[in-house]
Amino acid sequence: MTIIQTARYDMAPDTIAIVGGVVLTEEGLVRADLVIEHGLITALGTDVVLPEGATVLEAKDCIVGPGFVDLHTHLREPGKEQAETIATGARAAALGGYTAVVAMPNTDPVLDSAFVVRAVLDLGAVSTCEVAVAGAITVGRKGESLAPIAELAKLGVQLFTDDGSGVQHGGVARRALDYCRGLGVTYAEHCEDNAIAAGGVVHEGEWSAKLGLPGQPASAEEAMVARDLLLAGELGARLHLLHLSTSGSVELVRQAKHAGINVTAEAAPHHFTLTDAALESYDAVFKVNPPLRPEHHVQAIIDGFADGTIDAVATDHAPHTPETKDLPFDEAPPGMLGLETAFSLTFERLVLGAKMSIEQLFAVMSMNPARIAGLDAASSRPYGHTPHGKPVAVGNVANLVVIDPEATWTVEGSSLASLAANTPYEGRTMHGAIRHTVLRGEPVVLEGKATR
Ligand SMILES: [Zn+2]
Repeated sequence: MTIIQTARYDMAPDTIAIVGGVVLTEEGLVRADLVIEHGLITALGTDVVLPEGATVLEAKDCIVGPGFVDLHTHLREPGKEQAETIATGARAAALGGYTAVVAMPNTDPVLDSAFVVRAVLDLGAVSTCEVAVAGAITVGRKGESLAPIAELAKLGVQLFTDDGSGVQHGGVARRALDYCRGLGVTYAEHCEDNAIAAGGVVHEGEWSAKLGLPGQPASAEEAMVARDLLLAGELGARLHLLHLSTSGSVELVRQAKHAGINVTAEAAPHHFTLTDAALESYDAVFKVNPPLRPEHHVQAIIDGFADGTIDAVATDHAPHTPETKDLPFDEAPPGMLGLETAFSLTFERLVLGAKMSIEQLFAVMSMNPARIAGLDAASSRPYGHTPHGKPVAVGNVANLVVIDPEATWTVEGSSLASLAANTPYEGRTMHGAIRHTVLRGEPVVLEGKATR
């Protein structure tokens, strides 16, 4: 069957065809070719006639699906352009199979004003990935007075967070949740109670004791998860929990979802593929916030994905320059690269590890994050975006990824598109690779290489 539609999308790159692959459609995975004209999918089926002059993307033995959406990317611009810029971060995202990312607000200046948010959106608009912004909840991320949330929401900002730190004052968090509820936007929390964390730079336990490094207990995260779930439940507000890392957090969210609380949650690949035993090397490349945890927490995150308690894989992509990451462990900044390794890690651990199907991988890397970020439907310009996270169908804007489940590759920090090189997976062989990424009908990654 071939469906033809002739609507056009005015971003209008070349006519392209993706041939030979298995496509994730509304009916599930089907063998099909597809044609994209002027940014829109215009034909899909096994008997598609390729238009003359079409650029052909080979997808034999590959899966074609909606481009990934990252809920948690630190692009570092403005303020730390030596670690990453919007352009380099977007290129890393495209190479990782992402067609949209949400830029976190802990830049310098903070994304707490329309002026700075507009500047980031303008730069994002000409990059190789759609860039949405998470606005700060409080002015300067200081946790005191509320940022101009209504004004930022008018620019299309859907998520608000003081990520980098949690909102410490329960009264401020409650007021912000209530305000976000009224505006129909989502409050997102970096769950960390500073008083309980007490400056710990690793997980408190066997390895903090062995290494003589100050640790923070799991309860530093869980106490804020519990507080926010209570507040969101009481107010009927929508809550998104960032980078969950402990078994207690997963269990609290599981219970809250059963109780009907409007909560979604994400977890980062490093929290389901690495344990705090990696700290043995004393290498600050393994320093991240929330910290790497022991195996039973890692298993709980995996189980949280398997039963749908955790909705989304989020990278927490956090580039840092070598000068800062080479500082002594307790002085080095927390964070690790994530955009270019997230798919392979998720594919290996969760799909090859028999915890989820490939369709579910697309749910946690594309559909669910698109919905959580409000990127699943088109929004109006000048700060609009095209829809992401939709099954492949005629009439949709072509925001697509082509993955090769059979390919293997080896991580080399210096070869990644990110300006920084702080990957904790250096030298590791990965299973599954991104072959092509198509943004609004433009092939921004072809055969694993960025085209611009
Ligand atoms: Zn965070």
